[in-house]
Formats: sequence, C-alpha cells, structure tokens
Amino acid sequence: MNPAKLTYDELLKGFRELQFQLDEANDTIDAIRNGQVDALIVKDDTGHQLYTLKTADQTYRVFIEKMNEGAVTLNTEGIILYSNSRFATMMNMPLERVIGLRFETFIPEISAERFNYMINNGWEEDCKGEILLVDKNGHLTPCLLSCTTLSLDEGLSLSLILTDLTTQKEAEWELKVKNDQLVAAQAETKKLNNELEDTVKERTKDLLISREHFKLLSDNIPQMSWTNLPDGEIDFFNQQWYNYTGLRFTETAGWGWQRVVHPDDLAVTIDKYVHSLKTGAVFEVENRYLRWDGKYRWHLNRAMPLKGDNGEIVFWVGTATDIEDQKQEMERKDEFIGVASHELKTPLTSLKGYIQLISGYNKEHVPPVVKQYIEKAGIAVNKLQRLVNDLLDVSKIHAGRLEYAIEEVHLRDLVATSLENAQHMYPQHEFENQATAPFKITGNAERLEQVVMNFINNAVKYSQLNKKIIIKTEANDSIVRLSVTDFGIGLSAGQIERIFERFYRVEDQKFMASGLGMGLYISTEIINNHNGKIGVESELGKGATFYFELPIIVG
Ligand code: ADP
Repeated sequence: MNPAKLTYDELLKGFRELQFQLDEANDTIDAIRNGQVDALIVKDDTGHQLYTLKTADQTYRVFIEKMNEGAVTLNTEGIILYSNSRFATMMNMPLERVIGLRFETFIPEISAERFNYMINNGWEEDCKGEILLVDKNGHLTPCLLSCTTLSLDEGLSLSLILTDLTTQKEAEWELKVKNDQLVAAQAETKKLNNELEDTVKERTKDLLISREHFKLLSDNIPQMSWTNLPDGEIDFFNQQWYNYTGLRFTETAGWGWQRVVHPDDLAVTIDKYVHSLKTGAVFEVENRYLRWDGKYRWHLNRAMPLKGDNGEIVFWVGTATDIEDQKQEMERKDEFIGVASHELKTPLTSLKGYIQLISGYNKEHVPPVVKQYIEKAGIAVNKLQRLVNDLLDVSKIHAGRLEYAIEEVHLRDLVATSLENAQHMYPQHEFENQATAPFKITGNAERLEQVVMNFINNAVKYSQLNKKIIIKTEANDSIVRLSVTDFGIGLSAGQIERIFERFYRVEDQKFMASGLGMGLYISTEIINNHNGKIGVESELGKGATFYFELPIIVG
C-alpha cells in the first residue's frame, strides 16, 4: 500500500486499528503483570505462536511487581522483555517506554566494561556485582546487580534483579566520613594523651627532683625543719628533727609535736601557730624543745606560707633554730649589765654630789671658763646617770623586779613638769603643749614621766631639722591618750615592728643618734605594767607620733 495515495478516511481507519492494537497490547501487558494471564498467542509473520509464561504464577508476579528491587528480563540481544514498575521508577521513565529498550541504554560509560563482563558471565552462571545505572537525566544510581538465566520455551532469557544501593551507599559514605572523623579524633586523642603522658612524666620527674632537692637541702641545714598543711598538720620533718627528738615520724607528725614543747611555752606556741594558720602571717615564736636526752633547749621557730597561683596557701615551710647558746650569752650579758650598772651607780652618785658641791662652792671666785666646765661636767654626769639608770631598769625588768608604788596621777601636771625639763634641756626646740585638759589616772608618776621623757628625747634626737614638737592628751570614752609628735625622719612599717624590742636601733648611718635602744623597751614594760597600751604612728620622712593610753579615773 502506498500511504501517499490513501484517502483521509482510509488513514483514519488505519489509525483507529493501530490505536485498538495498542490498547489491546497494553491490556495484555497489564493482565500479565497482574497475573490474570498465564499464556498468550502472538501473531507474527510466521503465523500464530503461543507464549506460555513459565513463571506465570500470579503470586510471583504480584510479588515481583511489589518488590523494592528492580526486576528486568532480557533476551539474548539485551532487549528488555519485561520490567517491573520499580525499575521504571528507578530510571525515571514510564514503564511502557522501558520495555523494548536495550538495557545498555541505562549503563553509563564508566560502568560499561564491568557490565559487559557481568552480562557475558551471567549467561553462563549466576553472578552478582555492583554497577552504576544512569537515567535519562544523567542521574547515576549505584546498584547491586544479580543475573540469573531463565530457560523459557521461547529460548533463554536473562533475569536481572537491581537493588538500589543509594541509601546504603550514602549511609556507607556517612559511616566512612564518621569513621574517618573518629580515626582522626582517635589520632588526636592519642597525640594529646602522649603529650599529656610526657608532661606528667616530666612534671613527676621535676617534682621528684625538687622533692629530692628540698630533702637534700633540709637535711643539710643545721636547723630542724618541717612542712605543714594549711590546717596545721605537720607532714614532714627533716633528719635534724629526728636526731634531736629521738622520735619517729608518727610520734610527732600531725599535731603530735606538742609533746616535745616545754609545757610553759606550749600555750604561746599554739596561740601564735593558730593565729598564723588563720591569717597567713609569718609564724615566729621562741620556745624550748625536749631533746632525746631529756634536756630542753631554746629554739627560734619561723614558718612561711607557700602560696598557689590564686594566692591560696598550699603548705608552710618552717625552721627551728637552736638559740640556747645565744640565750645563755644574753643571760650572762644581762647579769653583767646588772652588776656593772649597780657598781657604777654608787661612784656616779658620789661624782654627781661632788660636782654639785663644786658648783656651789665659792661661786664668785670661780673664773667663768671653769664655771662652764663644771656645767658641762654636770650635764655629762646627768647623761651618764640616765644611762646607768636605764641599764639598771633593763636588768630589773629582766629579773621581774621593776616595782613601783601606785598613786593618783594628774596627767596635766605630769606633762607640765616634763615640758619644763625638756625646754631646759633642748632650748633649740619648740614645744607645743596641747595637754592642758585635766585627766586623772592611776600609776607611778615618776615612771610615767620617764616614758614621756623618753618620747620627748627621741622626738628631739630624730628631728634635727624640723624642730617643732607637740604634746597632746585626748580622751576616747574612758581612755586617755598621751602623745608626742615630731616632724623628723619617721619610721618605716618594718622598723615600727621592731623598735619596742630590747636594744633594737634603726641601722641608718645617716640619722644615727646616740643611744642603746633601751628607752622604748623600758617604756613598753612600764606601760604594760600599768595595763595600758603603747604605740606609734609614723611615715618615713614625715615624723612620728609615739603614744600611750591609760584608763581615766572619773571624779
Ligand atoms: P635609742 O636609745 O636608740 O633612742 P629607743 O628604744 O628609745 O632607743 O628607740 C629605739 C629606736 O627607735 C631608735 O634607735 C630609733 O631608731 C627609733 N626611734 C625612736 N623614736 C623615734 C622617733 N621619734 N623618730 C624616728 N625614730 C625613732
């Protein structure tokens, strides 16, 4: 038939026939897919042929249709004879267009070689392997391909089952990424761990070395030494401690050291120890420790806190220095001072008496220059007498014999007498009396005057340039404070801490004035014996205010 010569009606008829055939074919395919048909007759050039669907069991076909894998049957030319819907969906195509296509259409270049190998193999025996499929949009899908040959009546076919591996691959990929991250993290951890181990090793070594250093050092100093924790427990003694006490660690560790402190020194030792633990202030106390042979020896204890990065106390390091020999030396010195000053006192009193006699004898016949000499001798003897008296006082204090009578004292009168003296002794200085209010206290006027004079003498001695001195009394509640202020060289905080000690003098060559460092020590004893308080307020270079405070008697 020549289509060019056909009429419109003939063409329409032909088209309708073809349409009918197509519908019929689609219906047949659906029927096969749904399992309603087990066999079909096909008419071709060679006549009618019966195609029996060998696997045409309906259950299987439904199953294949519903399964999650793609299922395809190929003929020996690689043409798709059958495909389930899943495969069409995987390839993004309508099912009817998939059937009849060459399966190679879905094989990308990259998988071609592998696919050919598998297909060739697949005709021989069952095989399995991963390949990539490509859809019409170029999208690649990784699949697991299983090939099985089917022997149908009409010849051999190849059944392909395609499992979409996308999710699995993604999961695998994610797993791999996670795994890689894990491996990297593990490597990093291992590295850190190694570094940490190295640091710990190094620190441990450092610690061992420094502990060894400390032990070596502490075992080789002549002093006994210890370390204690912030709560006061002693956790280390050096070898000297064991040699001295003859005791083992457990016998004196913790707070056990108290057993070797002389009972008379225990209270003050514990007081100062606890005070330092509470405040972090340096611990310093003199006490006697019991030696292994039953003898006590005096020691000077000092402990310093060791602080951490945040200022917290980590532990304390302490030493106890044997000062027994110095103490005995001091004792002998005190004894000597006592005897010497006592021996000096008698001839000095005679000397003073004779000078007084000479100065009063035949006055008008004495040439002025001799009068001057006599006056100077009188001043020198007075000075000497003050010194000897101070020395006697010191030895009295030491022997606990600084005694005096207690009476009512009017501070205003006491200041007036002292000032009269001072003005006479130091005419170059300007004294300002701000102690004119009447205050009555109980005490010994002579001894209190000694304290005031000591303050004034010092004020004069240590203020050679600025010559003003103020004496003042002021009351606070029932306490009166008497103070002497100068505007001289002043004192530093460190010096203030020590000036009330016996024989202490500030070692400053520039301002060194004569003296033995006894005045403030005696004054302190006197004021303490009066149940009062002595003190100083001062700033280096600006002057000083020395004061004492005593209870006021009312009425
Ligand atoms: P001294 O006989 O040496 O004056 P003190 O016991 O009276 O002995 O004083 C002790 C030390 O205190 C003195 O050596 C001096 O360094 C210091 N001092 C005392 N008073 C003053 C003051 N007003 N100004 C500065 N320093 C002072």
